[in-house]
Amino acid sequence: IKNLIIFGTRPEAIKMAPLVKEFQSREDYFETKICITAQHREMLDQVLSFFEIDPDYDLDLMKPNQNLYGLTSDIILNLKPVLEDFKPDYVYVHGDTTTTMAASIASFYAGAKVCHVEAGLRTFNMQSPFPEEMNRCVTGVVTDLHFAPTETSRKNLIDENKDVDTIVVTGNTVIDALLYSVEKVKSENFDNEEIEKLKSIVQSDKKLVLVTGHRRENHGQGFIDICESLKQIAIENTDVQIIYPVHLNPNVQKPVYQLLKKVENISLIPPLAYPAFVWLMERSYLIITDSGGVQEEAPSLGKPVLVMRNTTERPEAVDAGTVLLVGTDKEKIVKETTRLLNNSNAYTEMSKLHNPYGDGKACERIANHIIKLNNKEWKEKLV
Ligand code: UDP
Repeated sequence: IKNLIIFGTRPEAIKMAPLVKEFQSREDYFETKICITAQHREMLDQVLSFFEIDPDYDLDLMKPNQNLYGLTSDIILNLKPVLEDFKPDYVYVHGDTTTTMAASIASFYAGAKVCHVEAGLRTFNMQSPFPEEMNRCVTGVVTDLHFAPTETSRKNLIDENKDVDTIVVTGNTVIDALLYSVEKVKSENFDNEEIEKLKSIVQSDKKLVLVTGHRRENHGQGFIDICESLKQIAIENTDVQIIYPVHLNPNVQKPVYQLLKKVENISLIPPLAYPAFVWLMERSYLIITDSGGVQEEAPSLGKPVLVMRNTTERPEAVDAGTVLLVGTDKEKIVKETTRLLNNSNAYTEMSKLHNPYGDGKACERIANHIIKLNNKEWKEKLV
């Protein structure tokens, strides 16, 4: 069975890395090739190196001032020779990026079976000026096999009249990635400069609040409000250290450095490569973020998460109580953070819950399903 795995950004790389490893460990069934579009360059390469993944095709499409018209058409055009060269049976795309959407269309043109990993997430807001919901839905239209992380995502696909036989609930592959990484980071011979540096920044006598944020919907007033609430939390709670790896986007860098640089117990640091970030998540008391992946990972480490968004395509953790939506409302961010810092019952309740996103076996389920399907097909052919 010929597999082609295509991805382009950091979160996709993290979530596809364990699938690459799973397929590579089952070479008796699969011939697997990896194609990166490099929609993100530096942040993607760090992930590849940590997971020891060597892409077979690197389209290297990141350009200064890249826009979505150019990126979408570049991905489709540049995938043509890859698809024609390798002729995959199955192409795997992940999530909701421009790479996901354009690669699924190109694979459809090539006649390969499209497998969507992390299928069925929905905000139900197609009016948003940002393309993620459109990317998910368009990909869903050309997908042959939907690997849905949860029952909720499965239900979303059924509500769109997708054939039930094409949907498999697997859990989210990010948990597979996280468990692999926690083990690797903890292993004796793992040597990491970034983690050593972090050890000298982290103040062991303080409660560590980890912050990340990058979402375009928060650019502008959103980030200003976020920064002002972090400043208030830092000033009012001297027993707390806030560590904030600041995303490279200038719309994030500018307000964050302007408003928080001089606050005593806030440490602003460059974005971290995945192993150091995993180390810091484990070391933290609670996490404030607008990231999708972090919301899914944190419950597995027993860390409560406050999410700086008003809507989420990941309602499961909110329902399970491991995640609380606080938006970018200053008062709410300060109030909920203070509550978790000072009320140990509330904290314990949120940190003890189980992770609704999976058990670390999503990739095994995906590979087993492909094998099962092909056995059935082979049997039918024999009859
Ligand atoms: N992450 C990282 N370094 C950081 C911040 C986040 O490696 O400085 C990881 C995080 O653990 C998660 C992924 O990057 O697995 C999430 O990426 P991001 O927040 O950029 O995207 P999203 O999940 O919101 O699409």
